[in-house]
Amino acid sequence: MKWTGVIITACLAGVVGCDSTTPSWQGAEPLRVHFASRSWNVGNDVGRELTSKHYRIYTTSSRPEILDYLPGFMEAAHRNYLDITGLQAKPPAQTYPVYMMGTRQEWAGLTQSIVGGQWSMYASISAGGYCYKGVCVFWDIGGLSSMSVASHEGLHQLLHYRMKDNLPMWMEEGLATLCEGYEINGPTVRFTPERNVARFTDLRKAIINDWWIPLEKLLVMDGGDAVRLGAPERTVGYYGQIWALAVFLKTDPQFSPGRGKLLADAEAGRLIAALSKTDQQLARQLTGTRSYNRQVALPLFKLYISKDKQGFERRYKAFAKKLVRLQQAATTPPNQNNFSRWSQKTPRKDGFPASSPAFSTPSVRVETPVIATEPISATRRSFQHGSG
Ligand SMILES: [Zn+2]
Repeated sequence: MKWTGVIITACLAGVVGCDSTTPSWQGAEPLRVHFASRSWNVGNDVGRELTSKHYRIYTTSSRPEILDYLPGFMEAAHRNYLDITGLQAKPPAQTYPVYMMGTRQEWAGLTQSIVGGQWSMYASISAGGYCYKGVCVFWDIGGLSSMSVASHEGLHQLLHYRMKDNLPMWMEEGLATLCEGYEINGPTVRFTPERNVARFTDLRKAIINDWWIPLEKLLVMDGGDAVRLGAPERTVGYYGQIWALAVFLKTDPQFSPGRGKLLADAEAGRLIAALSKTDQQLARQLTGTRSYNRQVALPLFKLYISKDKQGFERRYKAFAKKLVRLQQAATTPPNQNNFSRWSQKTPRKDGFPASSPAFSTPSVRVETPVIATEPISATRRSFQHGSG
């Protein structure tokens, strides 16, 4: 996308030129952090290994945006993950591995060595990357889009290391979509879970086109099921709905406590134990498979969120419509005032140009195809990765 280079140039010009700027912007985190950098020998090439407090990033990208700022971005993303999940900060037992390859060809070679016989599933990823058994593997798709992908997938990675029991996908994927929104202002980044242009557009289109997925079906789905909905617009509609569900659960005073308890119980390994004896047995047998999600998704929703699915869906759908301003007879794009306000501060948001007609031009979605095709079932279990 041609505008990307322009935006990045403008953004990084701000970053490079603002050494002394402090993150006074409320909730902003610095993009400049301390990290170690050394050579990483990979085949016949030499990349860089960038080690910050929580992340060890291996990269063959030569772009300064990646080499200078990806560690800071991921550290800021990590703090955002803790805010969103309610997990406590802990001294890291290990650094989380992230591979950011310079080209898709390099990414494909690395991916084949990691996933072996499952390569055909990953070959369909057209931009960005995935998280596999706690290892994030991306290629640099240019601009700040690579960071949007990294932010979503990094949440899957954190859950891999921190949760003793796997979350149902309606919760895990929702959390990941909450991590996608961010804004950059000079040398700082601020995450905006409830402001996500791509998911806003996805959700709005899904509602307008009557592609709403009923709650009972939505709750047992994963990303693979979303791909099988057919048209790409319907696939991303799943992510739009799951984002709205995540915002609703996070902000609604009736359901937020149950959401928090579910997350705390998953971290402590009490989630499966909360199920009925039969569900417990099956869940333990199925851990790490897609069938696990189908087994636990509805029982956990009933246990932690609501037994009244119909009543819940009425409120959730009304919330979703309000979220994308479909309950108002507005003739101007929703949230335009908010976005206009931010666009004066920063040249980009979520990989979109500030002046982009984001609400009427679905083609501006950058990271969506990546996330829509991520191999959901492969985000868990341990992975012995080589440092090259
Ligand atoms: Zn995901």
